[in-house]
Amino acid sequence: MSELNIFLGPPGAGKGTQALKIASEFDLAHISTGDMLREHVSSATELGKIAKSLLDEGNLVPDELVIEMLLERLNNEDCKNGAILDGFPRTLPQAKSLESLDKEFPVAKVFVFEVNEDELIKRILLRGEMTGRSDDTEDSIKVRFEVYKKDTQPLVDFYNEKNLVNVIDAVGEVEDIYNSISRHFK
Ligand code: AMP
Repeated sequence: MSELNIFLGPPGAGKGTQALKIASEFDLAHISTGDMLREHVSSATELGKIAKSLLDEGNLVPDELVIEMLLERLNNEDCKNGAILDGFPRTLPQAKSLESLDKEFPVAKVFVFEVNEDELIKRILLRGEMTGRSDDTEDSIKVRFEVYKKDTQPLVDFYNEKNLVNVIDAVGEVEDIYNSISRHFK
């Protein structure tokens, strides 16, 4: 049995930064569907060709494609000890796809990252300047916030009903935020 830990939160909330640290400290796989999709785009695979404009606009890639990509990834040897899902699920159908894996890959914990919108915009624009990420633009940010509110936020209720949610105040020092997450893994 390999437990899944979900990092849920709006773009710019710091999920990726914390996922990397937690995964390396607790020997878990770090699965970022955004990173995987960006790799598909840069190597121009079939999936990458479909995903490119959706990513740039800030829209979601269709559920069935992302679910297939994720399920394949979970077969990797490095997931045997469990994984951090960074950016998946983002919709109700994606969350339901995990329910069917419950025997092998139960969802153990869900961390909901909370950051106010002004801070998020500041962080994303800074990241865009530093990395050149093509969706870290003002137009795309607007769409990504809307998509988050409409499609992803309902997952907080979905996992609250299962008593799996830990809310993380994700404003402040990276190390303090890390400590507030890591204590749940000890
Ligand atoms: P992220 O790096 O998690 O911010 O994701 C960047 C972009 O990749 C998103 O805006 C979506 O276009 C796409 N993406 C990442 N994860 C998913 C997902 N679980 N479902 C659909 N699209 C996704």
